[in-house]
Amino acid sequence: MRKQEPNNADRESSVFAGGRMNSTEEKNVTEDRTTIKKRDWILALVILAAAGCLMLGMRLAQRQKGTTVEVRVDGKLYSSYSIAQDRRYPVKTAYGTNVIEISGGTVSVTEADCAGHDCIRQGKISRCNETIVCLPHKLVVEITQRSGQQEQKTEFDTVAK
Ligand SMILES: [Zn+2]
Repeated sequence: MRKQEPNNADRESSVFAGGRMNSTEEKNVTEDRTTIKKRDWILALVILAAAGCLMLGMRLAQRQKGTTVEVRVDGKLYSSYSIAQDRRYPVKTAYGTNVIEISGGTVSVTEADCAGHDCIRQGKISRCNETIVCLPHKLVVEITQRSGQQEQKTEFDTVAK
C-alpha cells in the first residue's frame, strides 16, 4: 500500500504539470480566439455593410420600376391598369366615389366625395410600392410591378383555348 502512494503522488504531479501546460496553451488559444473574433467582427461588419448597400440599391431600383396601378376597395382588387397609359376613371363603390387619374407615369386621386379629401391631398405617386389611401372609402391606390389586367385577360384566353 505504501509503495502505491508515491506512485499516486507522481501521477498527481504529472497531472498537475500537464494541467499547467494546458493552462499556458489555453492562454495562447484564447489570445488566438480573440484575434479571430476581431477579424470575424470586422468581416461581419463588412458583409453587413455590403448587404445593406445591396438591399438599398435593390429597393431603389424597385421603387423606380412601377408598372401597374392597382386600386383596392376593402382589400379586394377593383382595377388594375398599366401606369404607362394615361387614363382617368371613377371608382364607384358603396362607400363613395374617387376619380383616379393616371397621367405621365404618375397616379393621383383628382376627385372624391369623401370627408376631408385626404386622398386628393396625398397628391401624385409614381414609384413602386407607393400608395394613396382614402380611409372613409376603404380605398387604396398602389403602384406595383405586377402585370396589368389586360395581360391577365390574355393569359386566361390562352388557357380557355
Ligand atoms: Zn378620400
